[in-house]
Amino acid sequence: MSAPKKLFIKTYGCQMNVYDSERMAESLGTQGYETTDVAADADMILLNTCHIREKAAEKIYSELGRMKGLKAAKPDLKIGVAGCVAQAEGAEIMKRQPMVDLVVGPQSYHRLPAMEDAVARGEKALDTDFPEDDKFDTLKSRPKAKRGPTAFLTVQEGCDKFCAFCVVPYTRGAEVSRPADRIIREAQELVEAGVREITLLGQNVNAYHGHDGGLAGLIWALDKVDGLERIRFTTSHPNDMDDALIDAHGTCDKLMPYLHLPVQSGSDKILKAMNRKHTRDQYFKLMERIRGARPDLLLSGDFIVGFPGETEEDFEDTMDLVRTVRYGQAYSFKYSTRPGTPAAEREQLDEDVKLERLHRLQALLGEQQREIQDEMIGRTVKVLFEKKGRETGQMIGKSEYLHAVFADTTDVQIGDLRDVRIVKSERNSLGGEIC
Ligand code: SAM
Ligand code: SF4
Repeated sequence: MSAPKKLFIKTYGCQMNVYDSERMAESLGTQGYETTDVAADADMILLNTCHIREKAAEKIYSELGRMKGLKAAKPDLKIGVAGCVAQAEGAEIMKRQPMVDLVVGPQSYHRLPAMEDAVARGEKALDTDFPEDDKFDTLKSRPKAKRGPTAFLTVQEGCDKFCAFCVVPYTRGAEVSRPADRIIREAQELVEAGVREITLLGQNVNAYHGHDGGLAGLIWALDKVDGLERIRFTTSHPNDMDDALIDAHGTCDKLMPYLHLPVQSGSDKILKAMNRKHTRDQYFKLMERIRGARPDLLLSGDFIVGFPGETEEDFEDTMDLVRTVRYGQAYSFKYSTRPGTPAAEREQLDEDVKLERLHRLQALLGEQQREIQDEMIGRTVKVLFEKKGRETGQMIGKSEYLHAVFADTTDVQIGDLRDVRIVKSERNSLGGEIC
């Protein structure tokens, strides 16, 4: 038997890419590859790229440039580019970096084994189609090997919303939901492999329609999976938070009290220009309903500052929205243009203005995050322990609210769910004592 070939995958961007990278590794496992953490040892390097951040494609071209040395040292090394930059740039990648052997868009990963065959024959392989068949259905199923206690599970991909700043509808295509029975089967397999918490993923996960009852229907079906203790989902759009999903937050014990619900801006004018299709008032009313169902819910969000046309007053509306809602956690970005999206064609704000607003917003969000963390002191939370801490005898896990919690303990194993009394709040974590 020949020695396994080594595969190094570098993953950029969101959790969906992390999930995709795992599945690509499994799929290339059928071609005799096993993964390595050392790029210099690899027979194939795959960059699983993200197009959300600024100048994403240029950063990938620079990364490829830096790989020239590896290719020179090992001429048989195969180099591939996957993900959203692969989708957006396509054949251009091989034109600009002829040493690239394989370019594959996010909807074509199930075709990787055939593409690898072609590459092994010394051919180039390019596939950026949006095929009709379900890539996850035809991708090799996950192995039964023991896994950590938490896992991501992609349930839908793509988006039909076309926010004026966003490339997702172009790089990931139209919204597609996976059938619920396949998701439930995959969840059962994950649980058999040791998983106790599953995060359902989708660019617009609450638009999921692979179950008659939508995302709430899927959550209730997963609620029946024995051994699965916790369910989370991300990322949601406010307009797809239906009554059943809000209700599930109040009634489904396995659904964790944490919600990532991006609003992007607090100004009605900017929300309209972004094509978000809701007002700030509608968002406030939605928050009231969600908090009515689950008062202790920790809310997280995404914000963009410096969108074209944003005045100081519009920005103050965002600050006001943040003060009113209170976020336990948040991601905030300076608007930056994405070629091909409507907002990229509009008149842009000065970078200094954007940066100054971003700093002000982040200061407020940071303050709220700290306050909400500090309020946890003295409370008892349930922690799912995921790994050993940096210090001896320390274990780290996540609370229901997705706070990282560490505790000094000798009687906790990875995968244990334990009550922990919070005794201190640090920068991005909480310290606790096992009850
Ligand atoms: N579907 C989610 C929603 O509706 O809010 C967001 C998913 S998007 C892939 C992740 C985040 O990246 C967005 O919420 C937004 O805040 C940020 N983002 C996307 N395009 C951006 C751009 N052109 N400039 C700055 N931030 C951007
Ligand atoms: Fe992008 Fe989210 Fe808007 Fe879809 S809903 S276009 S993924 S920001």
